[in-house]
Amino acid sequence: MSTPTKYKRVLLKLSGEALMGSQDFGLDAETVDRIAEEIKSVHENSVQVCLVIGAGNIFRGVSLAAANIERTTGDYMGMLATVLNALAMQSMLESKGVSTRVLSAIPMASVCEPYIRRRAVRHMEKGRVVIFAAGTGNPYMTTDTASALRALEINADVLLMAKNNVDGVYDSDPNENSDAVRFGNLDYMDALNMRLDVMDSTALSLCMDNQLPIVVFNIFEPGTIGNILTGQTVGTLITARD
Ligand code: UDP
Repeated sequence: MSTPTKYKRVLLKLSGEALMGSQDFGLDAETVDRIAEEIKSVHENSVQVCLVIGAGNIFRGVSLAAANIERTTGDYMGMLATVLNALAMQSMLESKGVSTRVLSAIPMASVCEPYIRRRAVRHMEKGRVVIFAAGTGNPYMTTDTASALRALEINADVLLMAKNNVDGVYDSDPNENSDAVRFGNLDYMDALNMRLDVMDSTALSLCMDNQLPIVVFNIFEPGTIGNILTGQTVGTLITARD
């Protein structure tokens, strides 16, 4: 039986680094498995779920800028790397009986479907987890921005920003300062002014301009997504100040 939830359609953003586990590159199968379990349990509760996955575990375009490889080429490589992560998560979810579709912003007909907004919505209505791959399809962007964009396009109720090393937004770095205090709620403008590490400013502005709530939380605290969905105060909620 499903538990009533505050949010009916959610977009979960996973950074590539969240899939690395303790490795310093690539995918850690056990970690991908743990995250897939969390997604499965939310999906089983009749919540429509879609994902955007980054590629920081494989490649970031900007890292090649100094090596005579054009920034835009590097960015396209980064976007292709997100497809690798999307396929890995797709397989892991399907091995657990969760039906999925990967929709790529860069068409790749023999690997996955192209991104078509109405098709994404239809897949979710049919109970499939949709994984958006290749970011926005444009260089100079990030997968944070892709998450905000896709969440708005498909009318998600909330953007869930999953973190692997922090459980919300703090007034100083909790890994360096033991007195750091976590914000329960934060206004968009305050978050922008703080130049947060948890999300880039383009993505944050897009959410602010369109009143899309954001929850920043730690993906490795079991059951956390479920708690957010049932309205419990978890992590940091970024919205407009009343
Ligand atoms: N990227 C891009 N456009 C997009 C999304 C991603 O050019 O819309 C490229 C960019 O080079 C970025 C890389 O893909 O560095 C990986 O994405 P991101 O850094 O957002 O991954 P994350 O930090 O979430 O793992």
